[in-house]
Amino acid sequence: MDVLQLDISGRPQAWITSREAAVLYASDTVAWTLGDAFQVLRGGTQRATGLQSRIEVHPIVAVRGAIPSRAWRHTPALTNQKLFVRDRGLCAYCGNHFHFDELTREHIVPVSRGGGDTWMNCITACRACNGHKGSRLPEEARMTLLYLPYVPSLHEDMILRGRRIVSDQMEFLLASVPRSSRLHG
Ligand SMILES: [Zn+2]
Repeated sequence: MDVLQLDISGRPQAWITSREAAVLYASDTVAWTLGDAFQVLRGGTQRATGLQSRIEVHPIVAVRGAIPSRAWRHTPALTNQKLFVRDRGLCAYCGNHFHFDELTREHIVPVSRGGGDTWMNCITACRACNGHKGSRLPEEARMTLLYLPYVPSLHEDMILRGRRIVSDQMEFLLASVPRSSRLHG
């Protein structure tokens, strides 16, 4: 299970492994945590006490120090995986649900006609619909978008990037995701 790392003000920074979180605990850089500990890691025996070190890992950890979050200022990077999660695995043209390996990144305004490779110009489409549309605009192909693209916020981006998100993490992230997001379903 992954741990959600925040900066001290509560802005999401990254998904890290519980091993990486253990390093933060051990170096005393964890300022506060959220959620119940989900894992206990055991380290070496401490020479002074003869006791084995024990670290409780929480699902959300905020770290000390002014680590500037670049992600906060920039548009989240666009990947197919995140695009398909944003669009819930639904083809924007036929409305059918597909496995991710059957989906494509569809450029609403084709790249060959000046369309950007951006969150606002990309939508999820099945191979058949993408192939049918080709290098035409939706209206030229008489195809209608069943939903619209949008740029995910940082909190939402963390959800799109997460692999196995537990309820404490989802609750925390969704609290900062706009109501208009599809992730609220
Ligand atoms: Zn389709």
